Amino acid sequence: MTEPGPDLESALALIADVPDFPEPGILFKDITPLLADHTALTDVVAALSAPGRDADGRPVVDKVLGMESRGFILGAPVALALGVGFVPVRKAGKLPRATYAVSYSLEYGEATLEVHQDALQPGDRVLLVDDVLATGGTARATMELVAQSGATVHGVAMLMELGFLRGRDALGDVDLTTLLTV
Ligand code: AMP
Repeated sequence: MTEPGPDLESALALIADVPDFPEPGILFKDITPLLADHTALTDVVAALSAPGRDADGRPVVDKVLGMESRGFILGAPVALALGVGFVPVRKAGKLPRATYAVSYSLEYGEATLEVHQDALQPGDRVLLVDDVLATGGTARATMELVAQSGATVHGVAMLMELGFLRGRDALGDVDLTTLLTV
């Protein structure tokens, strides 16, 4: 994990803890106060873009992928910062044209994520962006979608990691950047 500098620290302090949402026992990490603050949003987008750059600051990815739905909010400005396009990864049935699909287990039941088949080109280097890494199931399924597309995952960038759920272990040896571990 990246040690947050003073600016990033005040941005991340805006994330609100909401107990028992959306169900009892879940401590929901609400990023909307951070999104509403221009300075915080600017600092966080810069930090999430960093894993898409080389040591000289040059972009080294071809696309940014964001996972529904807070990954859309964070991923699109990260793509703009890197000067590349944005690709949404959506829940089943939302994308209108031919898709690749990956199903994965949730605590109760299953979920399916999809990406348009023509969204990534073979050989594309991709940065995945989302807000919270919990069990890692969402990020792992998205990595499989990238593999199905013939592209490669350059890195995964998340605002926050719920360390006790060990999502990091579920992702293997990918380059994972999280700005905060709780
Ligand atoms: P997981 O697949 O378990 O890593 O869960 C990650 C997805 O669920 C992300 O898209 C998060 O936005 C969301 N998520 C999981 N846990 C939380 C939480 N405690 N607060 C906010 N969002 C969460």
